[in-house]
Amino acid sequence: MIATKILKQRESLPVFSYRQEIIDAIKKENLLVIIGETGSGKTTQIPQYILEGFENCRLIGVTQPRRIAAITVATRVSEEHGTRLGEDVGYSIRFDDCTSSKTRLRYMTDGVLLREATLDTQLEQYDIIIVDEAHERTVETDVLFGLLKATHRLRPELKILIMSATLNVEKFSDFFNGCPIFFIPGRTFNVNINHHRDAKISSLKSTYVQRAVETALYVHTQESPGDVLVFLTGQNEIDKACRDLIAREKDLDYRTDVKYADEVRGMVVYPIYSTLETMEQKAIFDDPPRYTRKIVFATNIAQTSVTIPGIKYVVDSGFVKQKSYDPTTGMDALLVVPISQAAATQRAGRAGRTAPGKAFRLYSRESFEKLDEETVPEIQRSSLLSTVLSLKKMEIKDILNFEFIDPPDPLLVKNALRQLFLLGAIDNEGKLTSLGDEMSIFPLSPFLSRALIASARQFGCSKEVMTIVSLLSVEEVFISPRTEKKQTEADERRKEFYHPSGDHLTLLNLFEAYQDNGHSREWCRDRYLNHRTLSTAKNIRDQLRELMIKHNIPLISCRKKNSHNDEREKKKRKLNYLDAKYDSIKILESFSTAYYINIAKRHSHRPVFYHYASARSPGNEYVDANSSLLALHISPVSALFPENRVVKMDDLDWVMYHNMLYTNKALMKVVSRVNLEWVEEKLKLFKELENARLDGSSVAKESEDKIVENDSEKNDAKNKEVIEENE
Ligand code: ADP
Ligand code: MG
Repeated sequence: MIATKILKQRESLPVFSYRQEIIDAIKKENLLVIIGETGSGKTTQIPQYILEGFENCRLIGVTQPRRIAAITVATRVSEEHGTRLGEDVGYSIRFDDCTSSKTRLRYMTDGVLLREATLDTQLEQYDIIIVDEAHERTVETDVLFGLLKATHRLRPELKILIMSATLNVEKFSDFFNGCPIFFIPGRTFNVNINHHRDAKISSLKSTYVQRAVETALYVHTQESPGDVLVFLTGQNEIDKACRDLIAREKDLDYRTDVKYADEVRGMVVYPIYSTLETMEQKAIFDDPPRYTRKIVFATNIAQTSVTIPGIKYVVDSGFVKQKSYDPTTGMDALLVVPISQAAATQRAGRAGRTAPGKAFRLYSRESFEKLDEETVPEIQRSSLLSTVLSLKKMEIKDILNFEFIDPPDPLLVKNALRQLFLLGAIDNEGKLTSLGDEMSIFPLSPFLSRALIASARQFGCSKEVMTIVSLLSVEEVFISPRTEKKQTEADERRKEFYHPSGDHLTLLNLFEAYQDNGHSREWCRDRYLNHRTLSTAKNIRDQLRELMIKHNIPLISCRKKNSHNDEREKKKRKLNYLDAKYDSIKILESFSTAYYINIAKRHSHRPVFYHYASARSPGNEYVDANSSLLALHISPVSALFPENRVVKMDDLDWVMYHNMLYTNKALMKVVSRVNLEWVEEKLKLFKELENARLDGSSVAKESEDKIVENDSEKNDAKNKEVIEENE
């Protein structure tokens, strides 16, 4: 019964009529670009056609830019294929491998394939590589393009397929030696686009969530039956929107307020964002109960990666949360920014997949016309640190001349080289150091890897730092509850973990308590902690531990024996605010070896105008150590936020933060206190290199140029070798 339903669904997809032609084209070509509208069946069907149509094919790898897409697609395809997940069809994402020796079709993130390529540039175990969702243009996808092009020269029999939604198609073919393009004609219906009369997108930043809820409610009450997809930017606002809409529905009198009350008598509301819980609700893909309208609040994930059936109305906020390079810190930050015209068109298109639909844009037509035409590829707006480190590990030395489909800004590459140099990952000739080699063992950001190695090799606290690093690699552990009353309760419960030194140790306390309570779901629920996130962190921690053991990196604890509340011990210490359970200083010093640029100093003067915000939380204005222009604030959920501090301290002058969130102000997230002495030297060097770039006179400048020059020379030599070998 289910099997016939699935078969029917498979046969109804646009790709189905081209099944044989697609198989023939793949048999004939070793480089091929396949283009088809989102939802036409590329991701779920084409790899299955290959499984069915190629007898001797060993392993097919299909990359997805998003972890969550890799999981859901693999789950769906194994179901369609009639096998258990992890058998014929499986997935590999960072820290989670669900494949076996039987697996012939492996969905994986582009990041995982990239890591595999660092170990085996020929990708020996694969017969076919499919780079899917190529239009998303993540850094990893872009680097894979360059690597695969090189692999094609060395191993021309490897089949390489690029699959993309209909955006910028010639570009991919041009890059891959002008290879053929297979077009899958779409079946899309007309979408009627409604713009807001006059709202400028720039003025919507603080109101779009509320406006999106209003618009969804408008559709629900005024439009004919059909499901609604609302594009927002992130987990918190999506949860809030769901709550608000459900609350607003309670006030509706369907008989008088709802135009199509005969057919529309209720609603079901779902969130979807890139954590597992939401995607596990299969109901998102199902038809809603009869006479009920399904309303889905989604991040960008629903723009092209995941297709929700039945959508007839789209509400487009006009915003997306995007990774962006932050020139003040040299790191990546997440920013909520206006989307591009191409993205707006894609979003609207989601309403016309199975029948004519309507899209409601919260911004005016004029604003739409002023949007960027295309989204800038991620590689041109991110810090490139991990990318450059992986390329170094692959012995690709000339990164500035690596074959990119759209080369990154050379300044960003140089900046990444400089940062890696400062982290000790490369030497002043641009060569990977043994430290850099050790750093690339871990599938972590180079900053976290650096801190972890410092804790193992220098400070003797790798067990604790490993735990904190795991927690910094997952999403938010604290749940923001649905009502204000519960929020107050959650704020209260969080206090039990607060550590006087700040949030790094708070995370450690929290994880220890989670362990002590047997990883209990109830225990998490009572404390408004995300059980799923914590268990992911535990899993990451186990894997980091394995990697450390495998590579002989010492696992040492700085936990003290019989240390509970030893007052004398506390007094003896210079910084007597620290408890005596761990050597907190060692832990924080480990982090400061990597995060020395994320240092901020408390604002020393009282502002002339004692404005509201600082009057409410005095002492919460900080200034970035590297750019005195930027005013920073400690996040209100931090243990160091003035009202949360366990110990009253007036001397909280220097803090280190893990990352920054720009809302209406710049918020430091995960903040701990530091001593300036820990980082002074590094900061000085950093500033020297930074200034050298400006005045061009110092030694530092020379060494920086050397990094870059050496890069090109060596690589030319290396390239020649490779070519000669081939000939
Ligand atoms: P494309 O890659 O061309 O965008 P997909 O292969 O992802 O298309 O999707 C094809 C169809 O399969 C879509 O109509 C989608 O709704 C359906 N589909 C995908 N994943 C699931 C799932 N987990 N459950 C039910 N249907 C799904
Ligand atoms: Mg797809």
